[in-house]
Amino acid sequence: MLEQVSARVWVTTSPTWLTTSTVVVDDDGACLVVDPALTPADLVSLQRELTDRGWHVAAAFSTHPHWDHTLWSEALPDVPRWATPAAAAACTDEELAAQAARDLPGHRWDVVGGTTPLPPDTTELPWTGPRAVVVATPGHAPGHASLHLPGERVLLAGDMLSDVEVPLLDDGPGAVDAYRRSLQRLADVVAGCDAVVPGHGRVTDAAAASHRLAADHRYLDDLTAGAEPLDPRLGDQRVRAEHEAQAARLPV
Ligand SMILES: [Zn+2]
Repeated sequence: MLEQVSARVWVTTSPTWLTTSTVVVDDDGACLVVDPALTPADLVSLQRELTDRGWHVAAAFSTHPHWDHTLWSEALPDVPRWATPAAAAACTDEELAAQAARDLPGHRWDVVGGTTPLPPDTTELPWTGPRAVVVATPGHAPGHASLHLPGERVLLAGDMLSDVEVPLLDDGPGAVDAYRRSLQRLADVVAGCDAVVPGHGRVTDAAAASHRLAADHRYLDDLTAGAEPLDPRLGDQRVRAEHEAQAARLPV
């Protein structure tokens, strides 16, 4: 079920990990689909709903190279599925498929991975719909990028600014500092937005997104200080396990 968050942006949310899929619609019904997810059945019903609305998929974008953000279905048309060059190069399709089988067994996706790298230094997605500015936001995964839709006053944050997940760090060196810089970059963007869409969690407004930014900084401060964060998002068993794993990995 797509829910409208601005004049030309719609979001649907899978019950699994509250994973969002975003659809940006041009005036002629051409759609940019961002991080479509999550189960094969979810992807088929997304395509059905787009068809029912008279829309058609023109392009797609993957915010980062984690399997649940690189999915596609044979029910969806074969269109460019862009990612930043670093994101597209980070994992093989086989590695992404193995992640999927490990994290959410029992499904058979048509496509995991297979994204197309954008030309280096691309600042906006090369499509004719609402402007989609690529905001480099590393720290969670290699080449992670958020999309800012300035005409819609919407930020598609990727796996940042979530109300259900604490900051989950890339396991490369310097991830904490990179994540902090990404949050600072997003703070400027959020200030000019009416809606912020996280990859997992609930769509929110600029004021609540500012609270999420503060909570994320606080979490990183506690993590790096070796203190136990008092963060309600750690009440979820899966998120707590991720937290404990990255706390054990520090310093990163
Ligand atoms: Zn992720």
